Amino acid sequence: MDGFRPPRLQELPLNADPSAQLVLLDLQGQDATLAQLAHRRRTLPELTVIAELEQRAHELDSRRIELQTRVDDLGREQRKADAEVELVKTRRTRDEERLNSGQVSNPKDLESLQHELVALERRIGTLEDAELEVMESLESAETELAVVLEDLAGVAAEITTHAVTRDAAFADIDARTTEAAEERAVLAVSVPDDLLALYEKLRTQYGTGAAALRARRCEGCRLEINGADLREIATKPDDEVLRCPECSRVLVRTAESGL
Ligand SMILES: [Zn+2]
Repeated sequence: MDGFRPPRLQELPLNADPSAQLVLLDLQGQDATLAQLAHRRRTLPELTVIAELEQRAHELDSRRIELQTRVDDLGREQRKADAEVELVKTRRTRDEERLNSGQVSNPKDLESLQHELVALERRIGTLEDAELEVMESLESAETELAVVLEDLAGVAAEITTHAVTRDAAFADIDARTTEAAEERAVLAVSVPDDLLALYEKLRTQYGTGAAALRARRCEGCRLEINGADLREIATKPDDEVLRCPECSRVLVRTAESGL
């Protein structure tokens, strides 16, 4: 088995004019441009910034709902406390009127009325203290809510600013993409169908479908082709479609191949 080498260059029953093979390199160039543009569109820094801001807005909005609920609850509590105070005050007024009218003359009744007035006064004091406490809590919740609303508005404005930048970048990328796609379509017309099909298949498989052979190196995998393979390549007719023995991409011979 001395000197045996498996045939590493795949013998493809595929032939194409060398000029069509060279077009494949331009096509590869456009595909690389399109892939870069798609990558740029996906990884635009604005997208990360906007996602972070949206997360912040989401958190702030949860806090806003909490605070709004608290403000509503405290407002209701305050109105209830206020009504209670009013009720007791009405009763105090009525008792005072009875006391001042002179209608109550029985000393025992008078004493009882005066006791009630003292109790009502104390009750009003307690209720008003409680109401004040509710009002203070309400005020602090309203202040906090106002801050959150302001923060929310600030974040929303920031999102809008970054969205404008993002949309401008998208428009630029999309225009370049359309241009590259159009150029690609023009190039694809001059590549024979079978070669194009092979190219597309390899592109799906490896990311790139064709590479130039320059200075004995495959520009697809960047590996230098060994001497034996180079000698074999040199014997192949110009119109035979070759594959890189290392990476299997279509290997296109150029004037600088070093053969
Ligand atoms: Zn290669």
